[in-house]
Amino acid sequence: MEIKERLQHVTHVVLKFGTSVLTEHIEKRSLAYFRAIARECLELQKQGKKVIIVSSGAVGFGRVILKERNNLKIPHATLGEKQALASLGQSLLIDSYQIAFSKKKLAAAQILVTRTDFENKKHLQNLKATLNQLLDWKAVPIINENDAVSNEEIKLGDNDNLSAHIALLYPKSLLILLTSVDAFYRDGNPVRHIPRITPDIRKAAGDAAEGGTGGMITKLQAGEKILNAGQIMSIAAGKDIKVVRKLMAGAVHGTWFYEN
Ligand code: GLU
Repeated sequence: MEIKERLQHVTHVVLKFGTSVLTEHIEKRSLAYFRAIARECLELQKQGKKVIIVSSGAVGFGRVILKERNNLKIPHATLGEKQALASLGQSLLIDSYQIAFSKKKLAAAQILVTRTDFENKKHLQNLKATLNQLLDWKAVPIINENDAVSNEEIKLGDNDNLSAHIALLYPKSLLILLTSVDAFYRDGNPVRHIPRITPDIRKAAGDAAEGGTGGMITKLQAGEKILNAGQIMSIAAGKDIKVVRKLMAGAVHGTWFYEN
């Protein structure tokens, strides 16, 4: 089945925003990008899709606040410092979504999770019930890791894997990882379709690791989870958010992950 046809069967779209995509807008205190996200969510809802966002940025936004208000820079934050930075930044992150989404008459909800919420059956049931209720109301859940309390023992660590866990809750979902690179590269060339993770692909991910929490290695881990479940994922550049509608139209763009 061609990608265009597969996308018609998609019920849930999980959009994951990386820190690098969002930080410049926060530094400029511009909500234009967040309003553009709201527009894409409305467009997806018009197509009958349920939309969930997984958003990074808490630590990055915390850095912006600490720099602006306390003139402090923490270039190499320890885990403890990252936890504190995240609790500074998470409220600004969710505020940015809230204010921008309300301009488009779209409700945004905050959900913070740790690894234990996926391991504990009861927590997982509760998470899914809340998500489903919000989706029935056409509200957009905005999920991040609860970094403030996530120490080594209970943290997932990166939002690429977290977003894959969320996508796996819905068997007919599509996960779009919106990032600062426009595709998965191998030997300097963008790979447009990955049907399975081969040793070559794994090696290319190592070579292409681009820093930050995630990089290509965690994106590939997410891709592997999605492929194993027979679902669809895309890695695409988040700079122009209209990429989402291009992808939904089945564009040969970014990198698609789906089985042949
Ligand atoms: N939860 C982290 C944050 O909000 C991001 C983790 C990641 O980007 O993978 O800053």
